[in-house]
Amino acid sequence: MTEELNLDWANLPFGYVRTDYNVRCSYRDGKWGDVEVSTSETVNMHIAATALHYGQEIFEGLKAFRGKDGKIRVFRMRENAKRIRESALGLKMQPVPEDLFCEMVEKVVKLNARFVPPYGSGASLYIRPLEIGMSASVGVRTSTEYLFLILVSPVGPYFKGGFRPTNICIMREYDRVAPKGTGRWKVGGNYAASLGAGERAHELGYSAVLYLDPKEKKYLDECGPANFFAIKDGKYITPASDSILPSITNMSLQQIAKDMGMEVESRHITVDELAEVQEAAACGTAAVASPVGEIDDLDTGVKYVVAKDGKPGPVTTQLYNTLRAIQYGEMEDVHGWNTIIEE
Ligand SMILES: *Cc1c(COP(=O)(O)O)cnc(C)c1O
Repeated sequence: MTEELNLDWANLPFGYVRTDYNVRCSYRDGKWGDVEVSTSETVNMHIAATALHYGQEIFEGLKAFRGKDGKIRVFRMRENAKRIRESALGLKMQPVPEDLFCEMVEKVVKLNARFVPPYGSGASLYIRPLEIGMSASVGVRTSTEYLFLILVSPVGPYFKGGFRPTNICIMREYDRVAPKGTGRWKVGGNYAASLGAGERAHELGYSAVLYLDPKEKKYLDECGPANFFAIKDGKYITPASDSILPSITNMSLQQIAKDMGMEVESRHITVDELAEVQEAAACGTAAVASPVGEIDDLDTGVKYVVAKDGKPGPVTTQLYNTLRAIQYGEMEDVHGWNTIIEE
């Protein structure tokens, strides 16, 4: 299975491409079993499984990169291991031990090493761990059996047309999650709940919805399926809220901003404050940092023009370039964020 692949790396979509293997582990009779390597693309499950009926599904998303030195690096997998544990506890599912999570990530990347796109293509290997409730139950209750599996797929560069700002909008008629709900966990159901708003935004020509806090509709929350940050008078500001998923990219960008000598504030940000920011972006594993051009408040009619010259701001650009350079092994990994996968 070491034959060279002839994929058009630079033009891959952000989608599913079949690879050689996925890895699986089941929780039954009170314990996690052995890690299985599978070549199957399907899961055999009971028609009454809790994942199908009551949404017991949580997931993660992280990436592996082929570095300048030819080595494969996985970015901050221990943080994803911690986060899926939090998601499991939130949905009363069985948490996957952190070490098991990391072992399985390393294994699935190593097994699919030929699908890690070459350095310089801008592409990467997307790693998608997920956990689902498997027990048959028609009554509403938590599952006693779980399947944890990790699939991978090579994905193309996010910014095909170049690193350019896009416009986003505020629409108060939609919430992504409830104030004390599941927003802080990576739950498939949160995505189902946001598809309607996302589609509406796309129809109107926006790349994403900038949600407001679901309780008071006063403060900024998440930006579609990504976190939001802005640069205000040389400070990195990002919303603090119980309904936001703590993004590992955001956490990393905050550290890089501090390393650059900037102040970082994680706090409530009102909609009005958007008039005072010089840069804004959405951040997450897929986009890294996606610059925002204009934020249109569709309820008040106010347009906050952030990228006045239509170009990404200098701080966002530097943050983006630094994070990418660490991930591709072009810059020293001073915080020990990468795990090198031995081939
Ligand atoms: C996954 C996700 C993010 C981004 O998190 P990263 O760890 O940076 O990839 C942000 N918001 C939501 C709702 C998410 O599901």
